[in-house]
Amino acid sequence: MPVLVMKFGGTSVATLDRIRRAAKRVGVEVAKGYEVIVIVSAMSGKTNELVGWVNETSPMYDAREYDAIVSSGENVTAGLMALTLQEMDVPARSWQGWQVPVKTTSAHSAARIEEIPTDNINAKFAQGMKVAIVAGFQGVSPEGRITTLGRGGSDTTAVAFAAAFEAERCDIYTDVDGVYTTDPRVEAKARKLDKISFEEMLELASLGAKVLQTRSVELAMRYKVKLRVLSSFEEQTDDAGTLVCDEEEIMESNVVAGVAFSREEAKMTLVSVADRPGIAALIFTALSDAGVNVDMIVQNISEEGRTDMTWSCPVDQVARAKQAMDDAKSSEVINYSDLLADTDVAKVSVVGIGMRSHTGVAAKMFQVLSNEGINIQVITTSEIKISVLINRKYMELAVQALHDAFELDKAA
Ligand code: ASP
Ligand code: MG
Repeated sequence: MPVLVMKFGGTSVATLDRIRRAAKRVGVEVAKGYEVIVIVSAMSGKTNELVGWVNETSPMYDAREYDAIVSSGENVTAGLMALTLQEMDVPARSWQGWQVPVKTTSAHSAARIEEIPTDNINAKFAQGMKVAIVAGFQGVSPEGRITTLGRGGSDTTAVAFAAAFEAERCDIYTDVDGVYTTDPRVEAKARKLDKISFEEMLELASLGAKVLQTRSVELAMRYKVKLRVLSSFEEQTDDAGTLVCDEEEIMESNVVAGVAFSREEAKMTLVSVADRPGIAALIFTALSDAGVNVDMIVQNISEEGRTDMTWSCPVDQVARAKQAMDDAKSSEVINYSDLLADTDVAKVSVVGIGMRSHTGVAAKMFQVLSNEGINIQVITTSEIKISVLINRKYMELAVQALHDAFELDKAA
């Protein structure tokens, strides 16, 4: 029998009523002849509450206990979903990660799935069970401890199960009805996409579109898992939501698929560092050792053997970056005259696989920003993405102007 994976996010299982509504959807798929693997998140807000309890109890917590605690929200929803289905006379049972077992690395709070054996669940399907409900977000380490996959990790659980069980599709039920050309709260003309390629989705997810955990898109791309993002609050039709798929399955697409943005950025500049081989390695090793996620990097023109080095990072990592640079200076690893931090910047990006074959996207983007009088501070590009750092107060304006200029409100 074909297998379908259905994942329900926190808002879709937030109350007993919503669990019942989700269970009905599962029932519909079972009636179509699928064996269904349901992956559940914790009730919305639950994981935050658990994380809060951990921090309050022990600020320098043992990460193994953090995982034991924050994974528990999913156990509750998995059991409740199983009971709800049983009440509907659908043969179902729940599985915690370790029971499957979902084997992961031992990187607590950011573990990676290494293997999902299928025999336990398949044996139950063979005995007539129709639905396996698996607690998302969690697994078990080689040491036998409970692990979690990072916030938003139940998306990754879902895709990993779809790959392991060779599911026909992986449906991600959430509180939005699909993937949009940009955030509709910033641009009212944002349009829901029927299809988007894995690569574009990967860029959008890593640029801060919160619909899917980045890692889940990476996995889906690697194993060619067809992913569908759809709302659990709207009537289900066969073409509901957005299909994330191989680019070959997309006949027509705009050059630019979407505009992404991230508000919480900072720009830091190390003033007057020596311009010689090895300096960049020293700076960025120190930052990475301090856990700073550097995104964009620019090295300015050098004068008399000294240069300025600029990078961007999340705004809440500025203090850590400062500390790392202070330490590197006092231990004479690097020498510089000043460290500037601008915490008032935002990143705006345009993404589209069409950029591979169309020239002029960057020029057009810069022209649009210039027409609005927006100054570009840093630029980075990849094959299918152009990102700029601008003053935060112009972020909405930039997103709207770009959305308009690239005519994203119209389908290709
Ligand atoms: N409950 C976890 C979180 O809130 C995992 C998930 O929902 O994907 O991050
Ligand atoms: Mg999520």
